Amino acid sequence: MRIFDPHIHMTSRTTDDYERMAAAGVRAVVEPAFWLGQPRTSPDSFADYFDSIIGWEPFRASQFGVRHHATIALNPKEANDPRCRPVLDLLPRYLEKDGVVAVGEIGYDSMTPAEDEAFAAQLALAVAHDLPAMVHTPHRDKARGVERSLAVVAESGIDPGRVVLDHLNEVTAGLVRDSGCWLGFSIYPDTKMSPPRMVELLRLYGTERMLVNSAADWGRSDPLLTRATGEAMLLAGFTADDVDRVLWRNPVEFYAQSGRLDLTGVDDADAPGGAGGQPGAGGAGGTFAGNSILRGGS
Ligand SMILES: [Zn+2]
Repeated sequence: MRIFDPHIHMTSRTTDDYERMAAAGVRAVVEPAFWLGQPRTSPDSFADYFDSIIGWEPFRASQFGVRHHATIALNPKEANDPRCRPVLDLLPRYLEKDGVVAVGEIGYDSMTPAEDEAFAAQLALAVAHDLPAMVHTPHRDKARGVERSLAVVAESGIDPGRVVLDHLNEVTAGLVRDSGCWLGFSIYPDTKMSPPRMVELLRLYGTERMLVNSAADWGRSDPLLTRATGEAMLLAGFTADDVDRVLWRNPVEFYAQSGRLDLTGVDDADAPGGAGGQPGAGGAGGTFAGNSILRGGS
């Protein structure tokens, strides 16, 4: 099983996770810029974070045979903090970088006027930079959040086929299905979407425009839930080709729209039904800007 996790915050995860992911078949990931749990107080800390997810983190992933890309944005939650708003002015320079495959995560947290403004401004940046957009939908008041997000997307003039709305569930999936946008589902350990629920949604809506991710971050989450979903699909009677479409070809198709998805050299030869991924194993001896993943920076 070859897996592309289209939404995972690897900066919060350990090298053990990379090792286990590679062993489970994860060959590629996209890391969206997001909130870090503790509020940032200046645009400078965003700049360092953005540099890290387009520099150090791809290097760290490569040590385990995992290809890493990023999406860049001012996240919805911090869009409400006036100290962070100038981040919007930093974005154009980051959106030109190799390895940046979308504008995201944008969208709503609490649906405030400040969020409205940042959301619309960043969809305009996606259009201007010819990039797809990755939209986070709120965890509270979900249906209203998704309806409003779809309205803002429609107003922006961006092609809906270049937009994914993420963190969907049984209540919101149908709304997005009809819009022409892509549907993203984050599979969590105890709450929200689970592998069996995801399988039911795939039965209901089919596999087209469907993305499954772990959204693993610094909170309770599990980077192997993409694999668990693939296995649940097989048990439920989906074919290996269906699994490959959802867990590999769909995310490739979505992010390839950026023109910057680079999977050359990624070991994607493990066709459906193959022997399963081998750990990238990592010649953990490389360095990035003089630093390695070994202790002591040597
Ligand atoms: Zn996220």
